[in-house]
Amino acid sequence: MPITPFHMGPGMLIKALLQGFFSLIIFGWAQLLMDIQPILVVLTGEGNLHGFSHTYIGATLIAIFSIITGRWVYQAIMIFIKKDFSDYQKKLFDVPKKLTLRVCVLSAFIGTYSHVLLDSIMHADVEPYYPISLENDINLILSIENLHKLCIYTGLLGVTIFFIIRSVKLKK
Ligand SMILES: [Zn+2]
Repeated sequence: MPITPFHMGPGMLIKALLQGFFSLIIFGWAQLLMDIQPILVVLTGEGNLHGFSHTYIGATLIAIFSIITGRWVYQAIMIFIKKDFSDYQKKLFDVPKKLTLRVCVLSAFIGTYSHVLLDSIMHADVEPYYPISLENDINLILSIENLHKLCIYTGLLGVTIFFIIRSVKLKK
């Protein structure tokens, strides 16, 4: 997808369902890393728009890189959260002090694989199964408009479910 934030919609729903087993920060970091290649191609006018980064092999490598580097990103964000969030907000957003490796692995791989999946639907130039096949058999199985709607609605649903579950837990 040309606009990385759309990927955060499905991510938010996954967060609502998996709660503490999933990190939206690591997921979001993986989305950003996935779109570095297309952003560079747009800026320089050179290379394949999606290319290797938007294949499942590329996504595997980017997930591993997200896991290794994501903890630093998380720590950096935690400095801001510690400073600016009240105790209530920390509990409401359910931010753990440290992320486990299991959470990082799950969030990064869901992040990069779902990114390839959604971009395969949207962009004809994505070759998800490279080098085994150059086919993209799911291109436009959903219209671009419906795909955008799916991202927005899953995001809204995710935010709603997340805060309902959190506020119920906080009241206990
Ligand atoms: Zn992309």
